[in-house]
Amino acid sequence: MPAHNEAVAIGVDIGATAIKAALVGLSGNLLASFREDSPRTTSSLQEFVRSVRKAAKVPLLGIGIGCKGVIDAATTRVSRLPGDLNFLEGCNLNELASVDRLHVCADNDARTALVAELLWGAARGRRNVVLLTLGTGVGGAALVDGVIVRGASGAACHFGHVTLDLRGGLCICGNYGCLETCFSSRAIESSYFAHLHRASSTHLSLDDAGRVPGTEAIFQAAADGDPSARRVLDLAFESLAAALVSFLHVFDPELVILGGNIAAAGLQLLAPLQEEVARRTNVLLDRKVPIVLQNDVGYGGVAGAAGLVFLQQRLLTI
Ligand SMILES: [Zn+2]
Repeated sequence: MPAHNEAVAIGVDIGATAIKAALVGLSGNLLASFREDSPRTTSSLQEFVRSVRKAAKVPLLGIGIGCKGVIDAATTRVSRLPGDLNFLEGCNLNELASVDRLHVCADNDARTALVAELLWGAARGRRNVVLLTLGTGVGGAALVDGVIVRGASGAACHFGHVTLDLRGGLCICGNYGCLETCFSSRAIESSYFAHLHRASSTHLSLDDAGRVPGTEAIFQAAADGDPSARRVLDLAFESLAAALVSFLHVFDPELVILGGNIAAAGLQLLAPLQEEVARRTNVLLDRKVPIVLQNDVGYGGVAGAAGLVFLQQRLLTI
């Protein structure tokens, strides 16, 4: 348990698949962590935050929240949030998630993941960093010349929604052929489903409830020689590599960090990207920009959400 006077904040990460939280210390340490399926109503979100607050037996500095979509960090309002979490659109997270009058800070979930890396991880002391969260969708954040980019309305760096495939399918954002329609858990699982549907050679099958195999299982199947899984992942990696090449040319970063649940695949993800990206960016960048994995896959964004509280109270700085 924490020292008696250790500064502790609650970090919450609201994702499309899961909602996670942790009691986070000033050195980014997780004192206790919590996870549930993603909420589908405001009351289930409130109950989750209340249960985390109740489990904390120490004084708290506040609550930090990372949430998908466009978040107005000044007011904590969820400005735009298409997809499964659309019920949060228009909500002020400080009203929704405040417990015991604790102060609530909020920002986009990829930005909180970047905050964690800047405070405690691979991005410490860096001034130009690109981060992608690879999960159900693809999120992004960038530090440019020492400043986290927000854009005019807070929507900047939605890297999952750069157009990769001119003839691609409709994306949740209304655009076509976005990176996230080519590389994301949803894209990988639906491509694998297409193989199942066409009776291709596959190691995996639908479960008893008719559910498609998950991304983790598809990565494992590829490693075990499943030709369909291999094909699906090869195409997905090709898309991600192409997108990373563009981000390197746009941002000229010192470092690229890959986070989100898919980053748990580790070397299976990194290996096919590193050489390809280096080869295609070498002429203009004249160096191999390191691509690394998020410090704490799965809970990096949670720690960073608590980091928002520490930053706001000037206990830490970037
Ligand atoms: Zn899109």
